[in-house]
Amino acid sequence: MTYQNYINCDRDQLLEKMAELLPEKRLNHCLGVEKAAIELAERFGVDKDQAGLAGLLHDYAKKLSDQEFLELIDCYELDPDLKNWGNNIWHGVVGIYKIREDLDLQDSEILRAIEVHTVGASRMTDLEKVIYVADYIEHNRAFPGVELARELAQTSLNQAVAYETARTVEHLAHQGLPIYPQTIETYNAYVQYLKED
Ligand code: GDP
Ligand code: FE
Ligand code: FE
Repeated sequence: MTYQNYINCDRDQLLEKMAELLPEKRLNHCLGVEKAAIELAERFGVDKDQAGLAGLLHDYAKKLSDQEFLELIDCYELDPDLKNWGNNIWHGVVGIYKIREDLDLQDSEILRAIEVHTVGASRMTDLEKVIYVADYIEHNRAFPGVELARELAQTSLNQAVAYETARTVEHLAHQGLPIYPQTIETYNAYVQYLKED
């Protein structure tokens, strides 16, 4: 993959940088998402470099401290309501600002795919869907339902997005956790695809 059109270093240098920021397990997950994203990109006619790089970088900010995220929210004058959430939401939605600072990544399509990789959006490009789904089905993932998600992703990005979002909303509600409004918007926009054959 030729990521140098998008960032200020090559893939090996990026991996070195990420190895300093992320524990091994998380780095392996990022490599798994890169691979899954490239496969989905091939299948659905999405740019493979954009998909691979977005997949590799999607959890780049996962280990940032809460303090760092709160500073980024202030610094970039992001929606103050974000402060009521936590790392689960911040590492994507706010993490893109750290990625831009560290790697000089300017490609708005890649940044947007990373931004919405956890919560989705009511309208998503195929690249955004690819990253959202790849995060869920990459080969290291093992949880009940992942096989069906992989199966749906063979033929329909929309059905895979719908399934993943419904399972996430179910899981959060079951645990008594708050659901980010944009996650609900994603659910409402894609729920129609759950019923398709
Ligand atoms: P990961 O970063 O690879 O672990 O996966 P994600 O970025 O998709 O999700 C990170 C965490 O956020 C998971 O534990 C999800 O269950 C959780 N999550 C996803 N959507 C929401 C939401 O709407 N609200 C809350 N509170 N958590 C969410
Ligand atoms: Fe994530
Ligand atoms: Fe992830």
